[in-house]
This record gives sequence, C-alpha cells and structure tokens, in this order.
Amino acid sequence: MNREDFPILTRNIHGHSLVYLDNAATTQKPRSVVDAMTEEYYNVNANVHRGVHFLSQQATDLHEAARESVRRFINARSASEIIFTRGTTESINLVAYSFGQECMEPGDEVIVTEMEHHSNIVPWQLLQTRKPIGIRVCPITDDAVLDIQALEKLISPRTRIISVAHVSNVLGTVNPIAEIINIAHAHNIPVLVDAAQSAPHMPLDVQALDADFVAFSGHKMYGPTGIGVLYGKEKWLERIPPYMGGGEMIGKVTFEHTTFNSLPYKFEAGTPDYIATTGLARAIDYIESIGWEEIQKHEHELTRYALEQLQTIPDIHIYGHKADTGDPVISFNIGAIHHLDLGTLLDQLGIAVRTGHHCAEPLIHRLGVEGTVRASFALYNTKEEIDILVSGIRRVSSMF
Ligand code: PMP
Repeated sequence: MNREDFPILTRNIHGHSLVYLDNAATTQKPRSVVDAMTEEYYNVNANVHRGVHFLSQQATDLHEAARESVRRFINARSASEIIFTRGTTESINLVAYSFGQECMEPGDEVIVTEMEHHSNIVPWQLLQTRKPIGIRVCPITDDAVLDIQALEKLISPRTRIISVAHVSNVLGTVNPIAEIINIAHAHNIPVLVDAAQSAPHMPLDVQALDADFVAFSGHKMYGPTGIGVLYGKEKWLERIPPYMGGGEMIGKVTFEHTTFNSLPYKFEAGTPDYIATTGLARAIDYIESIGWEEIQKHEHELTRYALEQLQTIPDIHIYGHKADTGDPVISFNIGAIHHLDLGTLLDQLGIAVRTGHHCAEPLIHRLGVEGTVRASFALYNTKEEIDILVSGIRRVSSMF
C-alpha cells in the first residue's frame, strides 16, 4: 500500500532494507504532510490570529481549516470543541489539571485501568499532590482484557471521572469504550478516552460514542510531532479553567483581573504550532484518501498473519490477543532471551521494534515480566516484512 509515499521506508539500516515495526511509538510521514509544512514555512509563515496583514490571515485560515479537518475527522459538533495541544500527554494533563481543579474535591476519585500508559497515570498523581483525591484502578483479567464487571464495582459516589485507554499500546487490546461510556454515564460520570493508539487505526465518532474528552497525538497517525488534540464537550470545556496562561487565551488583562477568551482559545495559551496543524490536516487527508475500510482490512490482515507466523516460533509468549485479533500491536518474549537483546539483534538486521516497558510499567508488572518486544504495524507494512521479522527472530533465537 503506497509505500512510495514514505521516503524513509527506502532506507538501508546496517546493510539491510529498513523494516519499520515501531509504529505505535510513532508513524512515518507521507511526502504530502512534509511538503505541506515546508510549503507553509517557505511561502506563508506568519504568526496566527494577531495580524492584520495578508500572511497572518493566510496562516490563520490554514490553522483554522486544520481545526475544522479535525472536527470532521472525529465528528465533533463544533470546531470550538477541538483544542490543539502538543499531544496526548498534554491533553490528558490538561484534563487532570483543569477538571481536577474545578470538578474534584478532596476524597473524590478517578478510575483508570491497569493497562494505562504512564501519561494517564502520572497526571492524576500530580493532581494528588495538590488535592488528596483517590486513584482507583480497574484490573485486567488473566487474558489481558479489561475486567468490566470490576469496573462497575469500582464506581462509587465519589467517582468523578473515568479515564481510560481506548487501545492498549502494549497489548493491542481494544477496550469496549462505548460500553464503558454507557456505564459511566448511567452514573453521571464523564469519560476521558486516551485515543493515542486508536486514532491511527479506526474511525472515531465522538458524538456517537458520547465521549466527554478524547485525547490523541498527530505523530502516531502519519502527522507531525508536537501536535495533538483534546476534544472536549463544550459543557465541560466551558466549565473547567484554563491550564496555562499567556497570550491568545485572554479576553482583557489588567494587573488586577483577567478575563479569558472563548473556546477553544481559552486552552491555547501562546503561539500555537500552526505549521504542525497544517501537517495534521494533511495527515487526515492522507488517511481519508485511502479510507478506513481499506486501512482496517489491510491492518487486520497483517495482524492476523503476524500472530499466525509468530506462533510458529518455539518458546514465544505473546501477550494479549486472546479474545480477538485486536489492534496491530503485538508484544512478545522468546523464552529466556532478554527483550533488549532481542531488540538490539533485530536492529542489526534492519528491523525496528520497541523493547522495554512501553511507558506502561504497572501493566508490564501485571504481566509478570520486566519488558517485552513490541512489533506494531501501520498501513504501509507488508506481509514480507512480517516474514523478515519472523525469520529474524528465529535467527536471533538460534544464537542463544
Ligand atoms: N497513551 C497511549 C496509549 C500511548 O500509546 C501514548 C504514546 N506511546 C501516549 C498516551 C502518549 O502519547 P504522546 O507521547 O504522543 O503524548
């Protein structure tokens, strides 16, 4: 699928053709994204929102058109519900800070899950240093899927928000997010969805889901680094205070008192990365030009094939993927081979995989290991690359 759109894929690494299987960490960028950003730097660049001059207007138009692209991409009701951030991490920190300040009292609770990325654990712990709130953790079953019954039991009169990953970046498990939101809403509890790993692989419809907050990163969906999104329902964004202060986010400023700008600017202090928002919009165009049906068919086929082939390797232990194929993220270990050794030796064969705890240490501990090797696929990966991975693993295993 369109590999020629991604120049980096033709690189040779240690004398081998690159096999890039670290897409859950970040995806490669198509030419159209990079070209659009270069073109804007060369021909349009000017700071947005503040200028009366032509270039500033043009840059502002591109920036706001990108916001509209994101709105359409996730089917938000209004573009004012799309906050540009640096990424998923900043989006979750924003909610933990601002929602925590306005909507949580000492003794109130947030529910997260055992399969969260650190970026959906630590912001709540930082909130705890300012306000004694409780963090309740929904466990996973031995099959590495979320224990929904346990989630229902964890809900208490003090639960103020449920903050949960849509897709695990370690296991590829797709959590039943619509069901979680239904359960939460039956108790009048809002839900923050960490969509970092779902946004690149499946359509998101925030209105159909009735999600309260959704966070995702541009760089994991073929867009540039340094840009991400926080979607929030208007009623929540109106209610919670700004996360950062500065230019753009104000109405009137005196030394005694400041009023805030309207949505979404109330949450966008300082000069935004308006070049990256253009890149993000082109990444959305790229995804849409191929279409979700095609992308999902290809990625599911790859994942099924990879699971099948990996399972033929002696002593392999694959984590998760028991209930269904899941997302194109596969974590494994081979016998007693240290994940770091395996990753390093695969790199010598030009194969890029990730090793370690994947910023999800509590989950890794729950799996009873110190780390895993993770192969994660994107729309440009091929079955041939999976064959190279499998033979690479066999070759490395035989050395031990
Ligand atoms: N949540 C999940 C599930 C992730 O996989 C990641 C990235 N590995 C993040 C949050 C953080 O994303 P970012 O580093 O782009 O802010």
